[in-house]
Amino acid sequence: MSALPSFELRAGVAFPDWTAVTSPASADALAAILSAFDLAKNWSGYDDEEDCVRQAAIEGLAELDSAPNTAWIAVRTGLDEDRVSALLGRLATRDLVVRDGGSSAIVGAYPLTTMSTEHRVGLDGKVTHAMCAVDALGIGAMFDADVVIKSSCRACGGSIRIATKDRGVALDCVEPGTTVVWSGNQYDGACAATSLCTVIPFFCSEAHLEDWWRTNRSGSEGYRLTPDEAMQIGRALFAPVLTRAGGAVGRLA
Ligand SMILES: [Zn+2]
Repeated sequence: MSALPSFELRAGVAFPDWTAVTSPASADALAAILSAFDLAKNWSGYDDEEDCVRQAAIEGLAELDSAPNTAWIAVRTGLDEDRVSALLGRLATRDLVVRDGGSSAIVGAYPLTTMSTEHRVGLDGKVTHAMCAVDALGIGAMFDADVVIKSSCRACGGSIRIATKDRGVALDCVEPGTTVVWSGNQYDGACAATSLCTVIPFFCSEAHLEDWWRTNRSGSEGYRLTPDEAMQIGRALFAPVLTRAGGAVGRLA
């Protein structure tokens, strides 16, 4: 592989973490996701204050019963509220934070969201929602903690349960064992939450993925991934997000 797209998120922390990606299918699917986001454009000028506000937004979504507001993020980051508000605007433009169109309230910061997606993730005794299957599989590595994902087959609605081990970086159990992930290509309206994320679901079997694809996505491109391959992408995208400069991984307060 050559010229893998990469960006220094903060000192000594590369995004994405390509070392997590060992499967060729995962590498191809991750490259496709990154090309949808236009890494160079979206990340140009990304600075330490934006980074702190993004981390606080994600931590707030994990810690609170509702999305964090500007005042909460101001306390967490030590920045004043006007500055936080401006930085949230920049993060929304970069599609790193998702806000309600009317109220501007935060409704998500990848990989977490307050929206009722089909991907429920149990973390430290709380349940949160993930934007998509890949995001769900990256949350454990991001928080350096094991998670239990409860989702459903996009085709039949059958339940899917995945538990992680080794502080979120490996699969402990996947039920049913035939579960697969589809990583589709779609990016509209400068918002992955309402486009790309909707075409990265779990399926209970390859047969149900094929049924769904023929009915809903016929002709569209994408990648069929095992849960482990999808986890490699989730780790690559999200493990760096809360890693402090110098390498220590952030933990929940
Ligand atoms: Zn199914």
